[in-house]
Amino acid sequence: MAAPARFPLPTPEIHVWVAYLTARCNFACDYCIQKPQIVPGQRRKPWGKYAELTGRQWVDALNAFPVRPVHPLILTGGEPSLHKDFAFIASRLEGYELDMTSNLTFDIDAVAREMKAHGKRFVTSFHTYHPKFITPEKWLDQAERLRDSGLVEKPTFSMVNLQRFPHFRDDEHDRNLAKLTELADRRGLIYQFNEFRGTHMGAPYERAQKHSIECTSAWVNIDPEGNVFNCQYHLTERKNAFGNITAIEACKPLPAMGEFFACTDFGFCDPCHENSGHGAFRDINGQVFRRTANDSRVYLKWMQPDAIRAVARRYFGQGDHAEAEQALLAAIGKQREAGQDDGETWADLGVALYETNKKKQCLAALLHAIDLGVTRTEIVGSTLHVARELGMVEHAKSTILRHVPAQILSRIEQALDAMQPIAPAQG
Ligand code: SF4
Ligand code: SF4
Repeated sequence: MAAPARFPLPTPEIHVWVAYLTARCNFACDYCIQKPQIVPGQRRKPWGKYAELTGRQWVDALNAFPVRPVHPLILTGGEPSLHKDFAFIASRLEGYELDMTSNLTFDIDAVAREMKAHGKRFVTSFHTYHPKFITPEKWLDQAERLRDSGLVEKPTFSMVNLQRFPHFRDDEHDRNLAKLTELADRRGLIYQFNEFRGTHMGAPYERAQKHSIECTSAWVNIDPEGNVFNCQYHLTERKNAFGNITAIEACKPLPAMGEFFACTDFGFCDPCHENSGHGAFRDINGQVFRRTANDSRVYLKWMQPDAIRAVARRYFGQGDHAEAEQALLAAIGKQREAGQDDGETWADLGVALYETNKKKQCLAALLHAIDLGVTRTEIVGSTLHVARELGMVEHAKSTILRHVPAQILSRIEQALDAMQPIAPAQG
């Protein structure tokens, strides 16, 4: 259905209408892209309090529109099923194809029953597993129930790919994710991994500085009170609303995609705007762009040295030695800023440097660790091993002997003659 000339919301193929039914979520993921800053370890909070439109208000307003979007209308949040009238809204909207994003914690049978009673179903849906907030078994049960319920024609089940972002993972996360993929494979649930959209132009979403830029958008974002925005940042900040769906005749027309408008808030944009294909920017040279980089190292600046060492160990465990090295250098930098010099971190760095084939630096790091009192057998053995490879045994021994008795060093050398490989330091 083509939009009448005066209807303010664009409907062309590229535009996506999103109804944020609520800002609330029953989970609190630290990598949630609805956080002002995507800081590791900081949980998501609702971005504001809303007098949420009732189900009847949503339905009356949207059903009264003279047009329908080409793309399915996305019911989202927060967690949209927390809206008290979620099933009512989904089953009473007329003429809309529907999509939802949900963490799958709702009563699927109840929603399916109500939708079915009104001859409705979602065409698509998107469900991501969040390992810190639901067990793999429970989520998989829910995913299978949804898949088999007929509630959604084509549901998508997914996981966020945090392989390059251990900053947002811990053992529980990794354990649950591994368990889920194992069970899903065994039980035949099809799933995908999604790109983590947590960086902004190669920097974290830290919202440190605003710049002027030109922007274009194919988003029609409706907040929990019915206010209309064309970017999620302005939605969460309640800034630059075009109008409200309950008084659509007074709503200002949204610019078309490709029609650039000036914005002084660039730098505070949301990840979807940059990465989805439904938004773009134009710089002062007239260059149109979206995101240009996706650098995981940016998160280290917010983390404490111990947490960074844990990140480094995860990188190490997955064979990503260059990233482990960078993380450990960042940890050492932070420790030094605080007037500390931690031998264990230097020992970890030495091992990482060995794996990236920087053997001279490796030897220097290990000797520094020994100087700082890390004299465990495997560290001393590893140091001698590298020193032998570099032909620098006497140099190494002169440092080691300041901290390790000659008798013990001699035993380690004998053991080394029987050859043991260099091993990652524990700590
Ligand atoms: S479940 Fe989704 S909306 Fe809720 S905190 Fe996690 S990522 Fe954010
Ligand atoms: S430049 Fe960023 S903050 Fe401004 S309208 Fe575009 S997406 Fe929103």
